[in-house]
Amino acid sequence: MDDPLAPLLAPVSELRGVGPATAEKLARLTGGGRVRDLLFHLPDSFIDRRTRTSLRDTLAGQVVTWTVEIAGHEPATKPSHPHRVRVTDGTAFAELAIWDKHRLANLTRARNGAPYMVNGRVEAFGSRLSMRDPAYAVPPEDEALIPPVDPVWPMTARLSARELRTAMRAASSRVTDLPEWHDPALLRRERWPSFRDALLGLQCPNEPPTPQHRARLGYDEMLAHQLAMMWMKAREKRRPGRSLVATGAMRAEALRRFGFDPTASQAHALAEIDADMAAPRRMLRLLQGDVGSGKTLVALLAMLGAVEAGTQAALMAPTEVLAKQHLRTLERLVPCPVGLLTGSVTGAARRNLLLQLNNGRLPIVVGTHALFQEAVEFRDLGLAVIDEQHRFGVEQRLLLGGKGERTDLLVMTATPIPRTLLLTQWGEMEVSRLTEKPAGRQPIRTTLHSLATLESVIEGIGRALDRGEQVYWVCPMVTDSLVSDLAAAEARFAEMRTRFGHKVGLAHGQQDSAVRDASIAAFAAGRTQLLVATTVIEVGVDVPGASVMVVEHADRFGLAQLHQLRGRVGRGAAQSYCLLLHEDGLTETGRRRMTTLRDTEDGFVIADEDFRLRGGGDLLGKRQSGLPGFRLSDPEAQDGMLRMANQDAAVLLDRDPKLESERGQAARLLLRLFDRRAALETLGAG
Ligand code: ADP
Ligand code: MG
Repeated sequence: MDDPLAPLLAPVSELRGVGPATAEKLARLTGGGRVRDLLFHLPDSFIDRRTRTSLRDTLAGQVVTWTVEIAGHEPATKPSHPHRVRVTDGTAFAELAIWDKHRLANLTRARNGAPYMVNGRVEAFGSRLSMRDPAYAVPPEDEALIPPVDPVWPMTARLSARELRTAMRAASSRVTDLPEWHDPALLRRERWPSFRDALLGLQCPNEPPTPQHRARLGYDEMLAHQLAMMWMKAREKRRPGRSLVATGAMRAEALRRFGFDPTASQAHALAEIDADMAAPRRMLRLLQGDVGSGKTLVALLAMLGAVEAGTQAALMAPTEVLAKQHLRTLERLVPCPVGLLTGSVTGAARRNLLLQLNNGRLPIVVGTHALFQEAVEFRDLGLAVIDEQHRFGVEQRLLLGGKGERTDLLVMTATPIPRTLLLTQWGEMEVSRLTEKPAGRQPIRTTLHSLATLESVIEGIGRALDRGEQVYWVCPMVTDSLVSDLAAAEARFAEMRTRFGHKVGLAHGQQDSAVRDASIAAFAAGRTQLLVATTVIEVGVDVPGASVMVVEHADRFGLAQLHQLRGRVGRGAAQSYCLLLHEDGLTETGRRRMTTLRDTEDGFVIADEDFRLRGGGDLLGKRQSGLPGFRLSDPEAQDGMLRMANQDAAVLLDRDPKLESERGQAARLLLRLFDRRAALETLGAG
């Protein structure tokens, strides 16, 4: 049977008129190299070219088609000026202002009374009408070449509008009718067109599209997403879980070594996790807690529970630095062996570790995504914990699910994820929240300083070092370029070295990972007191002794990011400080951002304010921005629609769990169209 999606999933380079160079530019613009990717690059506005008027009835500002004859021609007086072509249709005179020589040559060939059709925007200079650079100029027999409506696409510099238009036309000609995946009743109620009509209505419209065109496509995307999420969730639920019951023996020892009692929040979260693990189904739980709320301890106790119940536990961190830090914490606290698996564990050490995971001799392993490569086989993985989940995609979670038939899953994040977003990223997950910080913490004192006072700030830091305090110094994000960030950090490091000698360390992302880890470890162990760093320390670095955070050019960081950075101090009982150094001439928004941070430590308040100041954009801060996999819809803004898709998907899967019915088959096409590959693979596997 022919694959109805083949024309859409073919590479753009197969399109007529699209060479390899254009194909590459298109791929860069649209985020993918397939015809589908091009077609999903939707216009952000439309020019209606359907109005035809006489010259006399034309209003300034209109986009119109005139049928005119050429009455005269005035060459440009300077190269930067247009040629002026005088035209008339018998009702009045007007001029065409033309810069393009080729176009001019074409037009002037039409003298001697032959009529011409021109389309463009008209301006008025006094009583003189002028059509600036007509978009189309054709003899009347070619009228069809003037499209009724022209889409205007978001562009990049390298690609010409003409190239994009040509490619889009070729792509549009490949769009055929597909089996309908939506409920016909829904389509009627919403007055939505078919997929084909919606897409063509936007990409090569005969009339300006209605909101229904876009809504239909946005909903397609949301349904695909919700189906994929729900399918994965259903699959995980279908798999029999098992009851893991912690005995508490190892936990008690870990807590004794830790030396503090869990907070009420931590105890509550752990009780929820225990209940999930003890229930005979798989756990899918999100542990949400602001920076410094103590998620690691909860994870550690949960892992020990799994080990006490006779299984293994794995903890996956987003970076090697964090994996190693977790390793140090675990080694200090847990009364059982712990292994480390990252990309840089190789050779015999790696083989040995894999063997021990396989035969079950190693109960706990910490690592990066290296943990979920094929070669890693556990004897019996009872619990997998993922730290800082927004760095990992859903696909990785699937891989992880594959590591143990009945593995419970705990995901930890510091990001205050709104419910809607949870729905988009995870389908629905159970959530535990850490709502308080460990007792004995004092609020961090945050102060704002103009960069003009840098010298006195450095002197103050010198005094703090003399008192034995530990200080982070985070260097500015000069531009997007790593090179200049790096230069800034290295220059600052060199300067601090001259002043404070070997008390100073340096950590940045371009260092060899061994060097960077050693540098962070030296700081953690107190061998250095001042760590000059870039944002590599932003996530999760835990040095309870550190009590001062200086951020240079704080105005260049995102609010959420500054909150994360500040969360690196205030982890012990000592009074901690955060100094935000900023440019002198702050904008109103910039000032607002700084004072928000100064006045609150509440991550939710900060996220809210961030959201407002950014005008709703980038909720999750710089790096976490954008929801992967959403191009045609905005789940944050269209939250009602997302809920609808959520229910729609639930009903569909409930009636047809394997997507075998006619509508189910169509829904499979939808999943492929929107590239929910992971879901499809598991569908295939059933
Ligand atoms: P995060 O939630 O940001 O990952 P961590 O787990 O790194 O936070 O914990 C922050 C700091 O608080 C760590 O230094 C940790 O040892 C300490 N901590 C965690 N729980 C408690 C507790 N119940 N009592 C005292 N200190 C705690
Ligand atoms: Mg953490």
